[in-house]
Amino acid sequence: MKVDYIIVGLGLAGLAFAEELMQAKKTFIVFEDASQTSSLVAGGVYNPVVLRKFTAVWKAAEQLDLAIPFYARLEQKLQTKFDEKFVIKRAFKSVEEQNNWFSASDNPVLKRFLNATIENKKVAGVVGDFGFGTVNETGRIDTLKLVKAYRNFLMDEKCIRFEKFEHAKIEVCAEKIAYKEIECKQVVFCEGFGMKGNPFFNDLPLAEAKGELITIHAPELNIDFLLKSALFLIPLGNNNYKVGATFNHIDKTAAPTESGKLELVEKLKKVIDVPYEIIDQTAGIRPTTNDRRPFVGIHKEHTRLAILNGLGTRGVMLAPTMARNLFNYIEKGTPLDLEIDIKRFQ
Ligand SMILES: Cc1cc2nc3c(=O)[nH]c(=O)nc-3n(C[C@H](O)[C@H](O)[C@H](O)COP(=O)(O)OP(=O)(O)OC[C@H]3O[C@@H](n4cnc5c(N)ncnc54)[C@H](O)[C@@H]3O)c2cc1C
Repeated sequence: MKVDYIIVGLGLAGLAFAEELMQAKKTFIVFEDASQTSSLVAGGVYNPVVLRKFTAVWKAAEQLDLAIPFYARLEQKLQTKFDEKFVIKRAFKSVEEQNNWFSASDNPVLKRFLNATIENKKVAGVVGDFGFGTVNETGRIDTLKLVKAYRNFLMDEKCIRFEKFEHAKIEVCAEKIAYKEIECKQVVFCEGFGMKGNPFFNDLPLAEAKGELITIHAPELNIDFLLKSALFLIPLGNNNYKVGATFNHIDKTAAPTESGKLELVEKLKKVIDVPYEIIDQTAGIRPTTNDRRPFVGIHKEHTRLAILNGLGTRGVMLAPTMARNLFNYIEKGTPLDLEIDIKRFQ
């Protein structure tokens, strides 16, 4: 069997790269072994502003301008709705925070996203006395729905195999790659935290962070915006909300834990003061990096092996741009931004 590409992993990174290949009419086969859950459990929020410090996310406007049409096109293609648009409301803790918000909204980069008006109206069920600031152009991709729909689509196209990719079985030559009975020109590894088991790239400094979320049903809470306070509360409809997320750099398992739940329940006391019931809990490992920039590029010796990883806490916004950059680099020789190129570690 001959294809142009093998993609290892079908989370947000693998999906975005597969789309680049489809657009360019390249042939490929994906391997997916269900070993990681990050893209399945993600909150899925896209948000161009760092809400702790009121600064812009790195290259936020550029990423959003590619990501929003990217997901809209996928909704059409898969005939599934997964982009839920809403505003984010940041609850202020003090007058000082209100003032900082007001100054930030005057920043030329943030102007597009931050609403300068401070909302002082109380919201029923929400704790806080200092009002809210609103971020525009935000929303949530239901990544579970998206990834599942995309995997089904690839099954129909007969270009995905649900099995572990075994790195030891790769034969790399100058002009091609052989893997079992498959011959291809390029392998792109999109393995998330699974990268730790990849002998070609596991020297890269992945600083993974486990995250847990709970889903609650709060009948007396009726908000249609994402509330950012001591944690995120994402509206899902029918008085259900995703609440999260934790950050744990020690536990490397993707299993939900009692301590994760307790941490969220404790923080939630500072966010809402109405009764609720926990109806679900999920966990996954975010593929984060110390310098907060993705891992994109090709192997220093084996140029037919490439990587797309390190999407960290912002896979939804980053994946389409990073996939485009990697594709243009491999196919057209367009240089990668040095900030994302894995050459920075050599
Ligand atoms: C709790 C939580 C909340 C989050 N919230 C948000 C959010 O609100 N917004 C946002 O943008 N991001 C969020 N993220 C981050 C986001 O989930 C990640 O950035 C993104 O999912 C990473 O995608 P990925 O494809 O690189 O990795 P993954 O999703 O981990 O995908 C890698 C895939 O590769 C497969 N794989 C690995 N090794 C092999 C192998 N050898 N053979 C075959 N298959 C293999 C795995 O099974 C997996 O499906 C959150 C993450 C977590 C955990």
